[in-house]
Amino acid sequence: MGPGKPHQKSLFSASHPESPLSPRDSIPSLTRQLKQRLELEKLQGRRHVRVATHEAELAQIARRVAGCKRCGLWRTRTQPVPGQGSARAELVLVGEAPGAEEDKQGLAFVGRAGQLLTKILKAINLEREDVFIGNILKCRPPANRSPLPDESASCLPYILAQLDVIKPRIICALGAVAANALMGESGPISRIRGKFVPYRGADFIATYHPAYLLRNPAEKKKVWEDMQKIRDRLA
Ligand code: SF4
Repeated sequence: MGPGKPHQKSLFSASHPESPLSPRDSIPSLTRQLKQRLELEKLQGRRHVRVATHEAELAQIARRVAGCKRCGLWRTRTQPVPGQGSARAELVLVGEAPGAEEDKQGLAFVGRAGQLLTKILKAINLEREDVFIGNILKCRPPANRSPLPDESASCLPYILAQLDVIKPRIICALGAVAANALMGESGPISRIRGKFVPYRGADFIATYHPAYLLRNPAEKKKVWEDMQKIRDRLA
């Protein structure tokens, strides 16, 4: 410091006007504060590592989907649709299979039904980025036909692997095909719709598929009831 140059106080000097330290801070108190700070940073670091690991595992599943030939649908698809969203989502939504727009873009639920799903999520204060959205089938069946049993069975391990990585609090099946494939059952969705049951460490609920709602708008009220249950359970 040259002559005449004003003395600059360190921010960490207890006499600095903006110092986080106070002259009254004792050494044991400072040590305690430092330990708490380090512990917090360690926890945040662990969380970041965990999220990064989940993202890497989801990316690995997506790569396996891209190279998959377990059923014949890889021959007719344009792009695989592994599903997308948050690797630490508390809510995972599972539909039946990609449609034409999804097949074109390689993204789940981006057609008209997807736009309705976005509105449904917004109604319970969720953005698409907050959740994970996928399908039982990762490749579009020709002309949007229903999945064949062997196609569902071949593709099911991918969504199960995604669920095991994300470990959501709630899994919501959209439509009977998804609900039956996940639960290993058959039958109309009306028998299970709107009821929580335990499934793979999460709460499972089924509701109507947004594409069904586009054809039957009168059923929107029931989906709204189901979504309110999801919102309340996530609160
Ligand atoms: S639908 Fe599923 S099982 Fe069939 S080829 Fe595509 S990713 Fe593989």
